[in-house]
Amino acid sequence: MNWHYLQPVTIHFGNGMIACLKDEIRRLGGTRGLLVTSPSLEKNGLAARLVADNEKTLQTVYSRVSPNPDVSQCDACAGLIRQNGCDFVLAVGGGSVLDCAKAAAAFCTAAAPASEYLEKKRPLPEAHLPLIAVPTTAGTGSEITRVAVLSDHQKGLKAPLNTPVFYPATAIVDPELTYTVPKHVTACTGMDVLCHAIEAYWNIHHQPVCDALAIHAARLVFRHLETACEEPENALAREKMAEASVTAGLAFALPGTAAAHACSYPLTSNLGIPHGEACGLTIDHFMRINAEKDTDGRLRELAFATGFDNACSMADAISELKYRTGLKTSLAGYDLTDDQLEKLVQASLHPNLQNNPVPITEAMLRDLYRDLR
Ligand SMILES: [Zn+2]
Repeated sequence: MNWHYLQPVTIHFGNGMIACLKDEIRRLGGTRGLLVTSPSLEKNGLAARLVADNEKTLQTVYSRVSPNPDVSQCDACAGLIRQNGCDFVLAVGGGSVLDCAKAAAAFCTAAAPASEYLEKKRPLPEAHLPLIAVPTTAGTGSEITRVAVLSDHQKGLKAPLNTPVFYPATAIVDPELTYTVPKHVTACTGMDVLCHAIEAYWNIHHQPVCDALAIHAARLVFRHLETACEEPENALAREKMAEASVTAGLAFALPGTAAAHACSYPLTSNLGIPHGEACGLTIDHFMRINAEKDTDGRLRELAFATGFDNACSMADAISELKYRTGLKTSLAGYDLTDDQLEKLVQASLHPNLQNNPVPITEAMLRDLYRDLR
């Protein structure tokens, strides 16, 4: 088996680690930065605090990034970077903020609108500004990956873009920044972490370094997610979920994700289900499908390593975890018509589907969505 491993992002992890931001900006030679964040972090004062602490280097702020960031938000950020002659980007927020900022830090080097990159009408830029990523959820792992998921809401498009240019220069992971994350967002993002770990592990592009990281991350989610949801200021649970998020990010950064993520894109764009909750909806179903053809025993090993007797018990534990953390376990309530269901099937035929160890056919997707309906 041949494999390669590359991880170019400097990671600083720990409570209070946000204090090293000033040094990181200096180390990267940043003199004039764009702070990209979300309305909630502007409202709770974090954005203002960072601007005040770094007044000489952070004078331009874009705080309108929404969940499932739109290409128009990338264009707005790229426009601000160009107008103000910024030489670095600081992204502080959840995956949406990080993805929008990663794309803008590259798109600002060319004049084309973000929609043209999303529609694959032109190659992604090869130049970019250095980016410091500070995640405030645990999380997408976006702070250490080369992927940015963007949407064009006008055209009903949502897709990941993938290029080495999107790697942040530095990730500052401070678990204390996640204490204010509401319960439902904690549950959704935590389920996303578990899906990253599992889909990295059973991915057809799996490799040993990422396997080890994936097992570590999955164990942490089973142990700490429920507590992080119930006790938002539980320091151990928050720290361990932040650790799980980074290690799961490192696990899937190279192999990529698989079928649950392929299905999540239309579940989010057609039905508005948050990303992590959408991934969680199908992950246990794919686990049962994959367990039936676990010829090399890898799935059984994953189950053992994370504390279960077999893959089916692990799938049961995932369903239970969803139930206990208030996440959707079915699509009941959407009253999906046959036509809507068919649209979900067709839109799930995303390239990531092919990373699943068992080939997933249209008929299998149809059965899965019918079961969920
Ligand atoms: Zn994800």
